[in-house]
Amino acid sequence: MRIGILGAGISGLSAAKLLSKKFDVEILERSHIHGGIARTKEVEGVAYHVTGGHCFNSKYRDVLDFVFDEVLSKDKWHNIQRAANINFRDNEITYPIEFAIKQINNFDSELAINITKDFLAAEDDLNYKNLEDWFRKKFGNTLAESYFIPYNTKIWNRSPNEMSPSWVEGKLPIPDKKSFFNGLVNNEADKMPHANFFYPNTNNQNTFIDALAEDLNITYNYTVQKISFDAFEKLWIVNNEKRYDLIISTLPLNILPTLIEATPQFVLDEAGKLKYNKVSTMLWETQGTKHTWTYVPESNNFFHRYIHIGNFYQPQRNVSITEVVGEKSYDEMVENGKKDPFLIRPIDYHVSDHAYVVFDENYDTATQNVKTYLQNLGIHTLGRFGEWQYYNMDVCIKQSIDLYNNLIQKIED
Ligand SMILES: Cc1cc2nc3c(=O)[nH]c(=O)nc-3n(C[C@H](O)[C@H](O)[C@H](O)COP(=O)(O)OP(=O)(O)OC[C@H]3O[C@@H](n4cnc5c(N)ncnc54)[C@H](O)[C@@H]3O)c2cc1C
Repeated sequence: MRIGILGAGISGLSAAKLLSKKFDVEILERSHIHGGIARTKEVEGVAYHVTGGHCFNSKYRDVLDFVFDEVLSKDKWHNIQRAANINFRDNEITYPIEFAIKQINNFDSELAINITKDFLAAEDDLNYKNLEDWFRKKFGNTLAESYFIPYNTKIWNRSPNEMSPSWVEGKLPIPDKKSFFNGLVNNEADKMPHANFFYPNTNNQNTFIDALAEDLNITYNYTVQKISFDAFEKLWIVNNEKRYDLIISTLPLNILPTLIEATPQFVLDEAGKLKYNKVSTMLWETQGTKHTWTYVPESNNFFHRYIHIGNFYQPQRNVSITEVVGEKSYDEMVENGKKDPFLIRPIDYHVSDHAYVVFDENYDTATQNVKTYLQNLGIHTLGRFGEWQYYNMDVCIKQSIDLYNNLIQKIED
């Protein structure tokens, strides 16, 4: 069987790595290089993650086994303890905020009391009108209003009351009343999925990406523009020339239907409803910090997150990435960065197109309608934008492993 994989990001590469064991696989990639949005760019000896920072870990045993046994052995990674903080009302508190109430009490005891009162009184009926409602029912009104709603307004570029909560389950640790109370009287630890994580010893995520791409059949500088089906030969045809028995697409779900010949107008309209955000980042020389990330919920700071990428490296370097949602100019980034003495010198800048899927009111039905159309055609989809999800690298790899197992199973049956 000949399989065509569209896109050589983490999803396409991991699927190809597995499927190449059994099938004839070709990846078609628009760029001159593999890695997609996880790829770094070397600037002044620093691996700049132009789209955010990319740390690796996973709760899935099969993903860890695949990565460490088949791609880059565990001794080629170092493990880093996550040390995230929040810049909250001009004070630094630790992340996640619901376990930092004692620290909030040091500078605003009334706010700390109100957060506690509301958290303990919050009633979660598991029935949410929108994302704002979800935050209110999970964390209480004060924490929702002082932190979650402003921060999420910044990262999604829209009000949480216009968004679906469907992305958030499993992404945020939700403390129950008992663990919140424990956080008040003891020190509750950061239990986020990436509370510790791996980074390659070379101090460059491209080491992992290049290992993933090794020995794969990748056609670079090849933009998929048209996909059609030859019903007589039962083959998929890409750009009128490349022929495959099976197609796996990691291309954005809002674009894929426009490339397929004779897609009905209804599906094109549904694909047109899928919204996403771009992200602008800037790499800076900094004064240095012990943290790995700083979250900035308040609207008076232009950036929503600082990724202290220099602390992913061994030895550590004084470099950080600032991130803001939307397409911002170089000058805007520099002008706003100048307001923070921590940021000493801009080094490089980038705007990424597809960065964050937006889970708005159309999300559920539009994704469902487009996916049903693709499933009926027999086109498999994978990846963050291929599936239109909030996936990290490890979930992309997990989806590839599951698809590989399913295809093998189907063929054996
Ligand atoms: C700001 C930010 C920070 C992140 N941080 C982390 C992190 O710390 N840890 C983590 O695990 N994950 C992180 N992620 C998520 C991670 O980047 C993704 O899960 C993963 O890289 C997605 O890989 P993909 O292959 O699905 O998609 P992509 O990387 O988007 O790959 C798609 C590929 O398709 C190619 N392509 C597109 N159109 C065409 C076409 N017409 N023809 C041919 N090729 C085409 C593209 O060039 C690209 O190479 C982060 C994401 C963002 C946005």
